[in-house]
Amino acid sequence: MSKDLSYRILLYYKYVNIPDYEQFAADHLQYCKELGVKGRILVAEEGINGTVSGTIAQTEKYMQDMHNHPLFKDMVFKIDEAEGHAFKKIFVRPKKELVTFRLDKNLDPNQIGGKRLSPAKFYEMLQKEDVIVLDGRNNYEYDIGHFRNAIRPDVESFREFPEWIRNNLAQHKDKPIITYCTGGIRCEKLTAFMIEEGFQDVSQLDGGIVTYGKDPQVQGRLFDGKCYVFDERISVRINNTPEDVVIGRCHHCGKPEDRYINCANDFCHLQHICCEECEELHHGFCSKECEEKEWSRCES
Ligand SMILES: [Zn+2]
Ligand SMILES: [Zn+2]
Repeated sequence: MSKDLSYRILLYYKYVNIPDYEQFAADHLQYCKELGVKGRILVAEEGINGTVSGTIAQTEKYMQDMHNHPLFKDMVFKIDEAEGHAFKKIFVRPKKELVTFRLDKNLDPNQIGGKRLSPAKFYEMLQKEDVIVLDGRNNYEYDIGHFRNAIRPDVESFREFPEWIRNNLAQHKDKPIITYCTGGIRCEKLTAFMIEEGFQDVSQLDGGIVTYGKDPQVQGRLFDGKCYVFDERISVRINNTPEDVVIGRCHHCGKPEDRYINCANDFCHLQHICCEECEELHHGFCSKECEEKEWSRCES
């Protein structure tokens, strides 16, 4: 049976000064509602970052309209085919920062940042002896998939990175370091921060893991597991070669698995890796406590 791929998911960002960004966000929300696309779009004074889903016609129109806007003429869209929407609603939110870093000083990725590596160049660097590969994402994203030999920063959110880097990488300021994240937006801030901190040789994967997986030459090689994404798909395949592997482990039984589910307890909702058998066995709860609490709530 062939899949009906008449929908698309667009992933994009751009660091550019948006004057009166709150008004822009309000207008853009209205525009998206009229067009019928769904998704999550963040708008800040420093730029825009979004994932939207829609039919082929809707997403074509969206890209065209954005490219006709003077601020977004050269916006790069990463396009995935899909069987339906990847979101239930449309959100356009004004925010202080595109990625929450909470630094005392402002980092402008248009002024400062690491060298940009194409997928082919990144692949080449991955195989060098002396290069430090730093995953620029959160630990739960790392756990279902990452580049082979990448360092797993033990952070649960991006704002923890500055402290983590100061505590864990300070002794490697003279070494070549390459970073990557889902679509590239976080690396722009991360490498800018590292250069400010005195790191000598910092580069980032241009377009992120998503672009790397679509590159016809590298085809996702050396990416193990799946790539976590912030929409209803939760994760997507990157390595399109026979070397594709599963690296996540079921939270309950420990067998190889890379599907995340949310704990069925409304007061928990912990996202955890869970195999299909265990989901049935544990009724979608992350723990015995969550299951018992839920039942006692039903009885009371
Ligand atoms: Zn299991
Ligand atoms: Zn739970």
